[in-house]
Amino acid sequence: MTEYGSPQPPSRDLCATMLVHRQLLNESMTYRSRRAAIENRALQYERGRRASLRTEVVTLPVVVHVVYNPKTPELNIGDAQIHSQIEVLNKDFRATNSDVGNVPAVWKPLVADIKVEFQLATLDPNGEPTDGIIRVPTDQLSFSWDNGVKASATGGSDPWPSDQYLNMWVCQLGGSLLGYAQFPGGPPQTDGVVILHSAFGTTGTAAAPFDGGRTATHEIGHWLDLYHIWGDDDGACTSDDKVADTPNQADSNTGVPTFPRITCDNGPHGDMFMNYMDYTDDAAMFMFTQGQATRMNACLEGTRASLLVGQVMRMPAPAAATSPAAAVAAVPAQQQPAHNGEVERLLHDSERLTNEILTDIRSALGLVTGDTGK
Ligand SMILES: [Zn+2]
Repeated sequence: MTEYGSPQPPSRDLCATMLVHRQLLNESMTYRSRRAAIENRALQYERGRRASLRTEVVTLPVVVHVVYNPKTPELNIGDAQIHSQIEVLNKDFRATNSDVGNVPAVWKPLVADIKVEFQLATLDPNGEPTDGIIRVPTDQLSFSWDNGVKASATGGSDPWPSDQYLNMWVCQLGGSLLGYAQFPGGPPQTDGVVILHSAFGTTGTAAAPFDGGRTATHEIGHWLDLYHIWGDDDGACTSDDKVADTPNQADSNTGVPTFPRITCDNGPHGDMFMNYMDYTDDAAMFMFTQGQATRMNACLEGTRASLLVGQVMRMPAPAAATSPAAAVAAVPAQQQPAHNGEVERLLHDSERLTNEILTDIRSALGLVTGDTGK
């Protein structure tokens, strides 16, 4: 299957991210050129021609949109289920998950701390205090991968600015779909991840075998520019995930495979089916690799750099602040010189990176003939 082929139903539609991706490639020249630029940047990181600037852990603000039909009240999931999901993300993206020790010895050196944490937003887009959870009743019985859940006009919930927040929609999804994400470079009004309520978090309506919170880990992997580990070539072994340290593997794995599982002549160790970007059960996936970390860094310091600036601007107030308004004012205030410096540095980095992205896009469009290829 070519990248520009018509959208086709996957053999097991656990995740619809590639359907969204292929549809955007077909419909949008802007998306194609942005994806080319983003891919070019990721390649430069992968080949060591650009190094990550980031050494500190970043915390990304999250807004969770719970979209539920009141006839099925359990779809209005509780706060505890949402918090349980954030906890899983904060372990998986820091490689502090309790099952990371199950990674086969041969791949233990590849296990990566992504240095990304997640926090329910404490300030809304207007600077007002929030718990980062929006609850929206709907007449819809379920949603599909058509982005309907992302707009109030179609019975969903409108996103918060996607350059400042990670939007996560939790709802009923049709068929066997667990979730879908939009890769970086797509339209801002549909940017974010969608998760089936029963594959979200570890309590409440979360149901086995997808009650480990790993669907969100997988979808946020896509949101940070990771492809499926088998390369979405339906068993052909001709395409991979554009990450060098993950083995080429034929197709998705499901359930709980036994190590080693060999495909595409990838012996003796076989498929890395315990990677978050496969389709295995939540209990059978527990790692990102160093190569995947590099690719996510290229994205975080490129297309999604605005979130790094945003997280500093939204740091919690110092103890002295007594009101949310004071909290907002306190961040750039003089008692926070470290924050000031950090904001300035990030703004500077963001401006520089934006210029680089624009250069990448012009380069991808063939508008620049000089100093390309750096
Ligand atoms: Zn996926």
